[in-house]
Amino acid sequence: MSARQAAQAARRTELPPPGTVLVELDGIGKRYGNVLALADVSTVVRAGEVTCVLGDNGAGKSTFIKIIAGAHQHTDGVLRVDGEDTTFTSPREALDRGIATVYQDLAVVDLMPIWRNFFLGSELRRGPFLDSARMKRTTREELARMGIDLRDVDQPIGTLSGGERQCVAIARAVHFGARVLILDEPTAALGVKQSGVVLRYIAAARDRGLGVVFITHNPHHAYPVGDRFVVLKRGRSVCDAPKAELPRDELVGLMAGGAELSALEHELSADRTAS
Ligand code: ADP
Repeated sequence: MSARQAAQAARRTELPPPGTVLVELDGIGKRYGNVLALADVSTVVRAGEVTCVLGDNGAGKSTFIKIIAGAHQHTDGVLRVDGEDTTFTSPREALDRGIATVYQDLAVVDLMPIWRNFFLGSELRRGPFLDSARMKRTTREELARMGIDLRDVDQPIGTLSGGERQCVAIARAVHFGARVLILDEPTAALGVKQSGVVLRYIAAARDRGLGVVFITHNPHHAYPVGDRFVVLKRGRSVCDAPKAELPRDELVGLMAGGAELSALEHELSADRTAS
């Protein structure tokens, strides 16, 4: 076992008690030259909870992810990881602290078997050889632990549905020691049924004690699994509230630009009656 694999294995058994604050954003801001992509955003990610980050295109969701995932650095405010002021200088650093990101365009090799994709870049070896038996067994076990029942881990990952592929990526991140799992619009390209499948695995990751950051523009996907909701608009936070303080309708209204849409609806139906 390499030092990195040993560290990952240790982290897996070391998830803090549910409710522990893993990541805290305190007045985070990000400027790209003259563009203010994020301004004064604060929230927390707790173990065993799902923090949903909602917003339309251009709201600042990707920037939010990049700062926690170590791809970009914030220019204002404080990022705390396990209570420590932190500025990540690379995604590797964030990963080493147990912060893993599953991007929408999953980095998988379609023609490779599921188990090869599961271990891609972290292959298990026995002497000079790949230990394929152990990798297949572990893949099967880890998927089963997440409640994912795939017939055959030898089939190419490209034969799975979009939802199933997301689920394999989630199980993989959990196996490799993620304590904070960032999911970048995992349901955006999926139909209703497949989205339901992914939402169930988000809940499974939460139930295993991870802190989940779920990025979406769909309040109907966020509300059932979310414990806390952040709504971004043009880089500013217009809401950071726990579920108990935010009825579903209010969240839907915040996202729909409520008033504007219902005004448009009125206008369109008025046009129809007029003609
Ligand atoms: P979202 O993911 O919600 O669509 P982004 O975080 O991608 O939003 O973008 C927020 C704002 O920051 C947008 O106005 C976008 O044009 C700007 N922005 C994002 N990345 C960069 C960059 N690398 N350089 C300049 N502006 C950027």
